[in-house]
Amino acid sequence: AAKNAGKNGYRFYEASMQETLIHKLNMERSLRAAVSNEEFLLYFQPIVYLETGLVSGFEALLRWNNPQQGLVAPGEFIPLVEESGLIVPIGKWVMRAACAFARKLTNMAYADTYVAVNVSVKQLASEDFVPMVRAALHEAAVPPTMLELEITETILMNSECLTTNIAKLKELKDMGVRIALDDFGTGYSSLTYLKQLPIDVVKIDKAFVDDLTEGGKNGPLMGSIIALAHNLGLKVVAEGVETEEQRKLLREWQCDSIQGYLISRPVPEAEVLKVCMKSKDS
Ligand code: C2E
Ligand code: MG
Ligand code: MG
Ligand code: MG
Repeated sequence: AAKNAGKNGYRFYEASMQETLIHKLNMERSLRAAVSNEEFLLYFQPIVYLETGLVSGFEALLRWNNPQQGLVAPGEFIPLVEESGLIVPIGKWVMRAACAFARKLTNMAYADTYVAVNVSVKQLASEDFVPMVRAALHEAAVPPTMLELEITETILMNSECLTTNIAKLKELKDMGVRIALDDFGTGYSSLTYLKQLPIDVVKIDKAFVDDLTEGGKNGPLMGSIIALAHNLGLKVVAEGVETEEQRKLLREWQCDSIQGYLISRPVPEAEVLKVCMKSKDS
């Protein structure tokens, strides 16, 4: 019986492996067609100054409107998109769409805000990344200062061509594009690296913000990270702020801006203005 179970177990394992592979191939094929089928869209989540509550910028977050599955979140397809190299054309679409949105912001008297775009390291490492960004800005007639690129900290530090990647970021920063280190505090987060990177902003990860409680041990740690960033001339954004208590504590630790469900969820473009009006009133 044990032998049978083993055999069945093995068969089952083999079948599910095959199913996973087929699912992956199908998904890759759908994703390959998704750009030309115009199935991608951007949601925007406002980032607000802690002191004034005014909007400082918007993070562009990719959504895939799959005809079969409906709206799919990036966590479910970005890994595959990176693995298959599709991140390069899709990332280009994101950059152009984000710049088009920035163009609209200037027309709506939000010219002093910025649009933050997530960039995967594979995309950064692609040969024509810098010219692609420059062209997207030019095409939309958007000043580089309205664009922020978010790079995930640990992924950048572990990347193969770290020196070239840093040089590219520096080139963009010299053009006036802002660079943010995303998901800060989740990885091995060597603080000493911070001053070697051409960055303007540190985005503290939600996981770190979640642990903030009145009198909790993470408060002072958060405080020293924020102080250190400020000493290096960097701005600090806290991600995933959900409660009034977190907002209060972050203000005490002199965080510059916050982003999270407390202010607004990511919303489609048509709803962005409504959200801005609301955050101005509160
Ligand atoms: P991220 O860049 O760290 O983006 C923040 C994520 O946290 C977003 O998830 C956002 O919806 C979510 N979030 C914001 N505030 C709150 C909150 O208060 N509570 C909770 N529970 N969640 C909050 P989303 O949109 O699912 O994106 C997930 C990740 O996918 C992003 O993490 C980013 O790494 C990646 N991503 C999104 N768009 C793109 C893109 O265009 N290109 C690339 N390469 N990656 C992208
Ligand atoms: Mg981000
Ligand atoms: Mg993040
Ligand atoms: Mg994240």
